[in-house]
Amino acid sequence: MEEKDFVQLVRPNIAALTPYSSARHEFTGHADIYLDANENPFSHHRWNRYPDPFQSALKNKLIEIKKCAVDEIFIGNGSDEAIDLLIRIFCEPGVDQIVTVEPTYGMYRVAADINNVAVNRQTLNPDYSLDIDTVLAHTTSADKILFLCSPNNPTGNAIDADVLLRGIKGFHGIVVIDEAYIDFSSQPSMIQYIESCPNLVILQTFSKAWGLAGLRMGMAFGPAWIIRLMNAVKPPYNINSYSQEIALQSLSKLEEVQDEIATIIEGRNQLRDFLVNHPSVLEVYPSDANFLLFKCIGAKSLFEYLRTEGIVIRDRSNVVLCEDCLRLTVGSPEENKIFIERMNNYNQ
Ligand SMILES: *Cc1c(COP(=O)(O)O)cnc(C)c1O
Repeated sequence: MEEKDFVQLVRPNIAALTPYSSARHEFTGHADIYLDANENPFSHHRWNRYPDPFQSALKNKLIEIKKCAVDEIFIGNGSDEAIDLLIRIFCEPGVDQIVTVEPTYGMYRVAADINNVAVNRQTLNPDYSLDIDTVLAHTTSADKILFLCSPNNPTGNAIDADVLLRGIKGFHGIVVIDEAYIDFSSQPSMIQYIESCPNLVILQTFSKAWGLAGLRMGMAFGPAWIIRLMNAVKPPYNINSYSQEIALQSLSKLEEVQDEIATIIEGRNQLRDFLVNHPSVLEVYPSDANFLLFKCIGAKSLFEYLRTEGIVIRDRSNVVLCEDCLRLTVGSPEENKIFIERMNNYNQ
C-alpha cells in the first residue's frame, strides 16, 4: 500500500481542518521589536514571550542524532499527547477501533476510551513474543491503528525487527511502534523505516533514558504527511519555552546520557543475577529496558514487604499473562544495593 491509501484513513473533519494560526506561526523570522502577539514587553518576567510552536531549535538538533528530517518529527507534551493525537486523527469515535497486544502500556487503551474508540485487544504469546500473523488475522477494516511496544512495557522484551516489519507491511492502517525504552535495547530503532513505510510512526520520549520525565516531552517520528496532521491538531503552544531549552541542552550532553544508560544496563544485569538466585523468585524475564519483570511466590506479599521497607516497585500481578509478576525499575547503584539487602532479609 502507498501513502495515498493511508491518507484515506484520516477522519474527514481532520482532513478538512484549517489549523489555528498564531502570531508565532505567521512570523518566524527575526525582528527588532515584536508587537504582534499581545505579550507583556517587560523581559524581566523571563517567560514573557510565547514559545516556538514548531520547536525548531530542538528539532534541528534532533535530526543530527535521529538521522531524519525536521518535517518527520513531532514533539508532544509527553508521548501521551502523541498517542491521543494519533487516535483523534485516525479514529472516528463510536465507529473505528485501535488494536493493542496485551500485556502492554496502558495509555493506548485509556486514550482510546477517552475518545470513545473501541479497543481490539489481542494478546502476546505466553513467552511474550509476538505472533504478528495471528494478530493481523484478527483485525478488521474498523481497526485504524495498531500499537506495538518494543521493548514492551511491562514485559521488557524487544520484538524482532523482521516481525515488526511484517506488521508494518501487513497492516492496512497506521502502525505505531512505541520505543520509549529503545535506548536501553540491544535492538536498533525502527526510525530508519519511516522513509519507506508511509504508515509507520515511532514514539520515543525524553522521560526515560534522557532523564526528563518531569518536563513532559515525547517525540514522534513519521512520514511528513502524518507529522503535518499531528502539528495541525496539537494545541499551538504545546511545549513551553523552558522545556524546549532544557531538552535542547540535554541533547548536547549525549556522552553523559550514554554513561548513565551503560550504568543502568549494568545495574539491570546485576539485579537479574541477584533475582534469579533468590528463593522467592520463580522467573526473571529477559529485558531490553530499564526494568525487570519477574515472577515470584506470592507477589502481593513481597510487594507489601518491600513497601514497609520503604521501597516501592510495581505490582503487575493482575495484568493478563503476568500472574504473580512484579516490575522493578533499575535504580542508581546505591538504590540497587539497598534493594538487594532488603530482599535478602525477606523470608516469605
Ligand atoms: C514511560 C513510557 C512512555 C513515556 O511516556 P511520556 O508520556 O513520554 O512520559 C511511553 N510509552 C511507554 C511504553 C512507556 O513505558
